[in-house]
Order: sequence, then structure tokens, then C-alpha cells
Amino acid sequence: MKRTLATLFVVIFLSMTGKSQVKIDFEISFIEPQAHYAEVEMNISGLLKDYVDIKMPVWAPGSYLVREFAKSVEGFSATAAGKNLRFEKVSKNAWRIYSSKAKNLKINYRVYAFETSVRTAFITDSHAFLSSTGIFMYPEGLLKSPSTVTIKPFKTWSKVSTGLEPVVGKPFTYTAANFDILFDSPIEVGNQDIFEFTASGVKHEVAMFGGGNYDKERLKVDMAKVVEQATAIYGENPNKHYTFIVHNFTAGGGGLEHLNSTVLGASKNGYSTEKGYKGFLELVAHEYHHLWNVKRLRPIALGPFDYDNENYTTNLWVAEGFTSYFENKFMLRAGFKTLLETAQALVTNIATVSNTPGSKIQSAAEASYDAWIKNYRPNENSGNTSISYYSKGEVIGTLMDLEIANATKGAKSLDNVMHDMYAAYYKKLGRGYTDAEFKAMVEKISGIDFTEFWKKYINGTDAIEYEKYFGYAGIKVLDDNAGKNAPYLGIASKKVEGKMMVSSVSRNSAAWDGGLNFNDELVSVDGLPIDSALERMPVIATHKVGDQITVTIKRDGVSQDVKLILKANPNLKLVATLDESATDAQLRVRKAVFN
Ligand SMILES: [Zn+2]
Repeated sequence: MKRTLATLFVVIFLSMTGKSQVKIDFEISFIEPQAHYAEVEMNISGLLKDYVDIKMPVWAPGSYLVREFAKSVEGFSATAAGKNLRFEKVSKNAWRIYSSKAKNLKINYRVYAFETSVRTAFITDSHAFLSSTGIFMYPEGLLKSPSTVTIKPFKTWSKVSTGLEPVVGKPFTYTAANFDILFDSPIEVGNQDIFEFTASGVKHEVAMFGGGNYDKERLKVDMAKVVEQATAIYGENPNKHYTFIVHNFTAGGGGLEHLNSTVLGASKNGYSTEKGYKGFLELVAHEYHHLWNVKRLRPIALGPFDYDNENYTTNLWVAEGFTSYFENKFMLRAGFKTLLETAQALVTNIATVSNTPGSKIQSAAEASYDAWIKNYRPNENSGNTSISYYSKGEVIGTLMDLEIANATKGAKSLDNVMHDMYAAYYKKLGRGYTDAEFKAMVEKISGIDFTEFWKKYINGTDAIEYEKYFGYAGIKVLDDNAGKNAPYLGIASKKVEGKMMVSSVSRNSAAWDGGLNFNDELVSVDGLPIDSALERMPVIATHKVGDQITVTIKRDGVSQDVKLILKANPNLKLVATLDESATDAQLRVRKAVFN
């Protein structure tokens, strides 16, 4: 279609008026950080409207839960030329200001921030972590507007770390080209320990809050290796600079990805153990890979975002699951894990998924779509009714990679799918992909039909054919539980104030059939007191499948006996070994997947 003169005029006219002339400046200061408050001032000029709705997002992209950030806002006010403006709440997260075509609007509010997670703001007298969707508001209809942010650190603080672009000559002042970028750029303010390294031609800043037993020099070398392995898949690193904000707590964990930064939760004393250190590098690998997978190469529903509502996608098994899968490949390629350790980690994950009863109820696509109400809102029955799109997605990545390598005799792998999807959808088309487009790319790279694969593993809940897929690569997988017929109860329990309480009951187990409940207090089994995990008490192993045991419980304070007929342990315990007599064809597949 050709563009007519009339439409051209409209385009020019629109670009000369209204939206492009609106200027938005934020200033964040801290009067009472010890009470966990940030003071926000927002100046908007050039709006010239009768009224404007100022809104706060209800969720943080990457964390699929409506968190209602507006609940922490207080003291909202608006003025123009020094005069108070009338305003009213028009929804849970929107304030309508009757601005009477005022040229300059000043909005003030305070935010209470005291939730220690990677996706929520928290402020104390020692630092402020500003998770942007819970701090900044936007004028309705103006998400594409640029803004500036000036941080006024509390008097005892001296540093700001963020992925936002600094304004030269203005300390602690940054620009965001639009609100998607602002909302995707968390800010750490305080006295964090900062170190830098360059990898793949990009300057990386690491901002450590909370102290810890980390070795900076070792981290610089090893984090650079992770960066280089991730960049190698996509052939380019699209950022000018990248910021790691690391929160070190006694028992920390988790991470949240952003366009050119990430927030990581770490255990401050965990860096000195091999397990803790590699666990941190795996977290780095996961969140760093997201700068491509989900932030740029993304399901079509995940951007531009609707900040008012849930954003539904069936593809989190790619966005999260494949990111988890590639952690394994990056750790192997960077030399932090061996081939056998990698294969074992992948089959252990397959066992975890298979042993979760919900894996037979909910597909990977359904788990993704319902993330908002299931994965992010778990309860005691979650394991029976749902499956994590992280772990099932990692299984899908494992099988798909092996299938592609086998179909192409080792010439291609899942790496090629990720590379070509990024080139086709992010770089060329500038949009997200649909599920059908992802499948089409897998079929193009592999040269084979994946309809059955999609039916079984993505939209279905079929048993995982691990022997077949690992066999392609000459890796044997055995079930160490096979044939053992070990008696099994099917409960998890935990000690609460000295009492052993049932924390979950597994579907179709002895405990499920016999009617043990979540939160029953486990008192005794066949007269023996229960003071540890009932499932692992020696008395259980003295029985055989089909025996009846009597468990005395207290339910709401009332004692009663529950009779349970023991069933066989249905769980897999998978063990991987490398086949020493693997054929050349198998070794080619092995090399393509585990190089
Ligand atoms: Zn992730």
C-alpha cells in the first residue's frame, strides 16, 4: 500500500504536536529511609490536557504475578503553578488529575518499600533498592515518552548502580527513552561494593550489596566466561553496558532479568563453597541469557506490555525453561562442569518432572498460561495439579536439542534455533514470536516434523522417553529405583515448633488413599513416636508393599488413628552413564549437544 499525501500530512502533524513535546522528569529522594520510604516527585510539562490519569503498574515483567504496587503509595498530591489541583482515584492504580490544560504539572507521592525480593523495592537506612515498576508512575497513553530520573541519595550514601543511561555532567541523573525501558531498569542506591569487567566487548558493572565472602578477581574471570558463552549463541551482544545488582543475604536466592541489567539474590557466605559458587554462576548464566531469551527474543504477548493486567502467553517453557536448560550448556562450555555432570543434572531434572504428579495433569503450555494463578500462587496441592514451566521447559529443551542433533547428524542443535529466531523475529521483524512460528523454526532447522513432539511434550502430558533421546547421544539412562518395590507413603512433612506436620500429600499414594491431610500433626507410627520425616523412618523399610500401618495423628488438636496400606514407590531415580562403545553417529550427536 502506498502512503498518500493526506496520510503523510497527518504523520508529520502528529509528530510536530502533543506527545513529542511532553517532558517528564522524576526526582527520587529519601527523607526517612529508616522507615522504608522513598519520596517521588514527577514533573510533567507540555501536556496541556483537561485531565490526565497517572498510573502505577500492577506487575513487574518477568515475574508473572499481579502485585498491586499501588498499595504502597501514599501522600499523592498534584500542583500547577503552586496551586493544588483536584484529583481522584479512578481505579486501583490510577489517579485522575484535573489539570485544566496546565503547562507544568508537579506530582508528589511517597512509596513504602520493605519487601526483600528481586522484584520488589526495599529501602532501609543502609540502602535503597528501587524496583522501577513499584516506584515510578506514568501518564496514561504516554508509555512511549522519554523521561529523566535524578536520584538524590540519602546523606550517608554515595553510589547509584543502574542500567539507565547516565546524563553527562549531571551526577546521578539518567535518561530512559520510554517507560518500557524505565520500568525495565532497577536502581540500587547506597554504598554498594562495585567492580567491573569487560567481556564480549561490553563493560559490565557488578554492584554488591550486603557484603559476603566473594572473591572479586575470581568472579570477574568466571562471570566473563559465562557472558562469552551466552554471546556466542546469538553472535552479538546488543548492549553498550550491563549492570549486575547483587543482593547478598544470609539465605538469598532468585533473580530477575532486565534489558541491560539484572538483580540477583545470593547467599552472602555461599561463595566459598564449590556448590554455592557454582550455584551463583548458574544464576548469572540464567539471568544473563535472558537479555536475549525473553527480553529481546520473546513470546509475542510479552511486549509491549499491558501494565494494568495479566499478560498471557503459552511460551514460558521457551522463555524460562530453555533459559534453565542453557544454564547447563553454558556451565559445561565454560569449563565449570563435566559432560557426565551435565547429563546427570539433565536426567535428574527429568526424574523431578516425572515424579511430580501434576506433570500428568498440566501441560507445559497450560503451566505457562496459568503462571499468574498457579506457579506464582502455590499451595499444598500444587504438586498434584501443576508442573513448573521451568523444569518441564528444561526437559523440552533437552529432548528438542537431542532430536534436532539426531535429525541433522550432528550438524545443528537448539543453539541454531535460538540464533535464527533472534535474527528473524527480534532483529528483522522487531516483534515477538507465536508458538507456531517457534515450531516452524525448529522444523526448518531440523528438517523434520515436530507435530507429534508438540502434542506429547508441549500441549500434552506424555511420559518422557528419556532412554530414546539420550540414546541418540550414546548416553545410557537407568532407573535406580526400578524393580525395588520399596514401600512408600507419599507425604512430605516438616517440623513446626517441634511438631512434625504434614506439608503435602502426593496424588494416588498410600497417604492420599488413606486420608492424611495437609497440616495433620504426625504423632506416632505403629506406636513409635515420630520425630523425623516419617517417610524415611526405619520402621517403614521393615514393611513391604501391601502392609497396613497405623499412623496416629492430631487434627485440630484431636487424636485419631489413620490406617494406611503401603504402596510401591512410583518415583524414578535416574542415573546417566556415558556409553563407551557409542557409535560415530552417536558421538556426533553428543558433540552437537554437549560441546
Ligand atoms: Zn528466568
